Amino acid sequence: MEAKHSFLYDHEECRVRENKIAYFSMEICIDSKIPTYSGGLGILAGDTIRSAADLGVPLIAMTLLYKKGYLRQNIDEQGLQHEFPDEWNPQDELAKLPVQIQVEIEKRKVTVQCWLYVVKGIDGSKVPVYFLDTDLPENSDFDRSLSYYLYGGDDRYRLAQEIVLGIGGVRMLKELGFQDILRYHMNEGHASLLALELLNNFYDPQKNDQWDIEQVKKRCVFTTHTPVPAGMDQFSYQLAGQVLGDFIPYNLLKSLAGNEKLNMTQLALNLSHYVNGVAKEHGAVSREMFPGYHIYYITNGVHSSTWTGQYFAELYDKYIPGWKSDPFSLRYALNIPDREVWNAHQKGKEELIDHINKLTSLEFDKEVLTIGFARRATAYKRADLILYDLNRLIDISRKKGQIQLVFAGKAHPKDQPGKELIQKIISASRHSPLKENIKTVYLENYNMDLGKILTCGVDLWLNTPRKPQEASGTSGMKAAHNGIPSFSILDGWWVEGCIEGITGWSIGSAANVESNEEEEAESLYKKLEIDILPAYYQKRKQWINMMRHCIAINASFFNTHRMVLQYVSNAYLYSK
Ligand SMILES: *Cc1c(COP(=O)(O)O)cnc(C)c1O
Repeated sequence: MEAKHSFLYDHEECRVRENKIAYFSMEICIDSKIPTYSGGLGILAGDTIRSAADLGVPLIAMTLLYKKGYLRQNIDEQGLQHEFPDEWNPQDELAKLPVQIQVEIEKRKVTVQCWLYVVKGIDGSKVPVYFLDTDLPENSDFDRSLSYYLYGGDDRYRLAQEIVLGIGGVRMLKELGFQDILRYHMNEGHASLLALELLNNFYDPQKNDQWDIEQVKKRCVFTTHTPVPAGMDQFSYQLAGQVLGDFIPYNLLKSLAGNEKLNMTQLALNLSHYVNGVAKEHGAVSREMFPGYHIYYITNGVHSSTWTGQYFAELYDKYIPGWKSDPFSLRYALNIPDREVWNAHQKGKEELIDHINKLTSLEFDKEVLTIGFARRATAYKRADLILYDLNRLIDISRKKGQIQLVFAGKAHPKDQPGKELIQKIISASRHSPLKENIKTVYLENYNMDLGKILTCGVDLWLNTPRKPQEASGTSGMKAAHNGIPSFSILDGWWVEGCIEGITGWSIGSAANVESNEEEEAESLYKKLEIDILPAYYQKRKQWINMMRHCIAINASFFNTHRMVLQYVSNAYLYSK
């Protein structure tokens, strides 16, 4: 209660700051008790906000409230995923503000209210996060339901939510008294409609150039997060006409967002002065996908003090004081003695093993090489690549040392192949030959808390996406903060983070070559057999040295402090 009360004073303090950056995101993960995120995009938004608060960057965040969250996942004996609402009570976590605005959806006036959470940085700087909410008695059932589910419903539902976020968000900032916003940052295309609202605000019938696109571009920054066209929001103009109405003349809209469909990525590309992908390779892929646009890159990161486990945090406090506000100093981790690195790791591992052994009767063993894989269960992420040839995997573990496997990840309710992936792994784990030879568990309900236990507790972090579909990926960066090497396909951030045998190992061919499943499985098995298992079981000193390099080389760079500073210098303060 106390904390929420003080939110209101914080909000006032933030309102009067200069050079404000308004950061819009469809999902934000600021606290594990507020389940308004599904995965990487929301975690990144939360980490961005946490770093901005630590650094004193005058950010303001705008997002949507979802009272039933994304989904709570149960997996039954057969390996079938069942989804339940992830309900929470906004009153317990947020402060409701006495403001309302309206947006128009399908020609209805929809009233939007607003909730506040304030993220406090290490030196007391603040970032307010505003949650828009349409669940009010004066709204229709459909309009109220827009505040129930993240990524639920159909295109109509999604477009209506994006109206609330983009158009409603800009109006709410005005209503809250925010003036002189220096930049609007669209974190993925879901927020693109904000640029149309700005375009309307700058409309001047007296001028020759009635629609002042340059004024809008000057204020907008856009980050694209997917390298695949299917991952981009696109709506038919028929639906847009029905839901958006005559918000903006259609010939103008088509010239900005594409002739065939209302493409939210294209809209943002055309109305931003700075556009970026989320890793070096992703920038290159995006430039190929959208010729004619300047697309830069700023590689993602994670918030160092959020994702470093207790035992490594204690070590850093001892050897690298000040690391939380200056994670670049993690490069001095090279001085931490072997024994202390190993002890910190084993304590984090024990917590994971205890967690698994409480939930199952598998009796996971703390001395066995434990490989972790956790991400959205969807086909291109290929959680099952390590199970490509079970007999080969088992043979390797017999010859070179035991292995344990830990999986986690939710499938979107409509993603049938994703659900089958979960089923396939569970089914393999429950039957011979895997059952007798390699302990394998699929943990339910992957979320921020489980993500932390996993990236603090495994020995090796596995990632096997189909190239070039991984824009960045961030879970391996969390692992690096805990001294855990990655074993991954050369895609996303790993193209930059992999130094073979020093920070981990690559799987398969170079970054810009398309995936070949058979070759990649072969490469995975070979490295496990020849490099990884021998290093873990027979060259412990070398292994610990790698752990230190994960921290010194990768955690010191792949953090959101570095990333936010790049956004400030390259995007927010940049003007042509
Ligand atoms: C870190 C994290 C992600 C994103 O990690 P990827 O490597 O991009 O898959 C997704 N979900 C949760 C719960 C996380 O903690």
